[in-house]
Amino acid sequence: MALTQLPPAASPAAAYEGILRRQSSRESAARTYARSLPIVPVRARGLTIEGADGRRYLDCLSGAGSLALGHNHPVVLEAIRSVLDSGAPLHVLDLATPVKDAFTDELFATLPRGLAASGRIQFCSPAGTDAVEAAFKLVRTATGRDGLLAFTGAYHGMTEGALAASGGASGVRVTRLPYPQDYRCPYGIGGEHGARLAARWTESLLDDPKSGVRRPAGMIVEPVQGEGGVLPAPDGWLRRMRELTEARSIPLIADEVQTGVGRTGAFWAVGHSGIEPDVMVLSKAIGGSLPLAVIVYLDDLDVWQPGDHAGTFRGNQLAMAAGAATLRYVRENGLAARAATLGGRMLDRLRRLAGEYECIGEVRGAGLMIGIEFVDPEQGAGAFAEGGRGAGDATGPEGGHGPDCGTRISSPAAPQPGTGYGPGVEGPLPASPARAVAVQQECLRRGLIVELGGRHSCVVRLLPPLTITDEQAEAVLDRLSDAVAAACRPGSRIPGTAGIPAPSTPKEAGAASPA
Ligand code: PLP
Repeated sequence: MALTQLPPAASPAAAYEGILRRQSSRESAARTYARSLPIVPVRARGLTIEGADGRRYLDCLSGAGSLALGHNHPVVLEAIRSVLDSGAPLHVLDLATPVKDAFTDELFATLPRGLAASGRIQFCSPAGTDAVEAAFKLVRTATGRDGLLAFTGAYHGMTEGALAASGGASGVRVTRLPYPQDYRCPYGIGGEHGARLAARWTESLLDDPKSGVRRPAGMIVEPVQGEGGVLPAPDGWLRRMRELTEARSIPLIADEVQTGVGRTGAFWAVGHSGIEPDVMVLSKAIGGSLPLAVIVYLDDLDVWQPGDHAGTFRGNQLAMAAGAATLRYVRENGLAARAATLGGRMLDRLRRLAGEYECIGEVRGAGLMIGIEFVDPEQGAGAFAEGGRGAGDATGPEGGHGPDCGTRISSPAAPQPGTGYGPGVEGPLPASPARAVAVQQECLRRGLIVELGGRHSCVVRLLPPLTITDEQAEAVLDRLSDAVAAACRPGSRIPGTAGIPAPSTPKEAGAASPA
């Protein structure tokens, strides 16, 4: 038999390009990160990823916020190895195991008081969206009601109920409520006043017998909207949501899929306001980089019959071991407090950067969940609901049920560099997704991976691991600053503008508000 002639081994560069080419020809058109980040990761540790092309990147995407300890943290690897070496079964449906018992102990040790004392846990199919569906089903069963309250700009996942509760779609009976924010406040005010109006609108919808909103099965809220553009809920507003729901026996579901495990500077983001939700939806970091999703909820909601909620892959032992190790490490090493301190310093430096560039509309965040919103100063202020240029939108927040927002109101607060807009400024500047893409690409050229998000995909997002060192944080910000300088310099070309030079936008150093 003649030996088949093997082709010569491909060069590393050719192999790497081949992998990317095959991906783009075989994977679905729905692929996302793979489009903007043409990287073939082959090794990773902590903040750093090494690509098949030999390049190293600082990874501030962190598996869309899943990697609280960065890539391949030694305690995570050790936990996984110890399960593998023990001969324990890897697949056990929802049977009891020592690994699951230890994970549950560790998780309960971190929960808000009420849930820790009398909470129940349901292990779900492994994605965050599965846990969101489970939470909806739970509150519908427990209350005997249907219909949900959710917020503008929310993101809860890609399955049907979760998608309906997210900002971009509608199907299941979801009533959309305004989520407070400063820069693109639905009332054109921002600050505490804007948040108060948002709460007032919710209250009036619930209490007005002619609002068209029947008492719902639950309210779902992200304590910091992540995909919505890094919008931390004001503490007072979140407390008000808790009061309103409690007084009307509406279970409050906190979606902590992205905000949990120290990310925002508190172990759970509800800790900033001190509220106790009835249900918490948890995924991402709780699996220590492996797929795991649960809901924890107050005992009195536990009206399910055996088998009412199930799923084959509820017993991922490796994820539970990795997750328990992650939860323990974050707790024992005070990484939530570390995220608060370091995140605060990073925000300060970014706000100084925003003071130099009119193309940065706002810098915001909580802990190590940071967003930089890019805008188009050439188009002038006054853009509102769609992030484009134009007069105010008289129909109000998405859904058209809000108060008349046609009249722009200047912010009563003094402008902060990089936060909101100031006296005399007619609202936020139009969003600039093209500028955000340009910054992301310039970051990548400099070996920095960042995510994009926000209503108009104009927010550059940083989600570094909580283990990032001070020096690494400086390196991230150096690269980001250089990328902003390149993408926002006079005459720079931004994608989608067919070679039209971008406007010249650097602010005068020290200028407090857009001209
Ligand atoms: N909820 C929030 C707040 C999220 O950020 C996400 C994903 O980013 C989800 C739910 C859905 O999680 P998954 O993508 O694992 O389904």
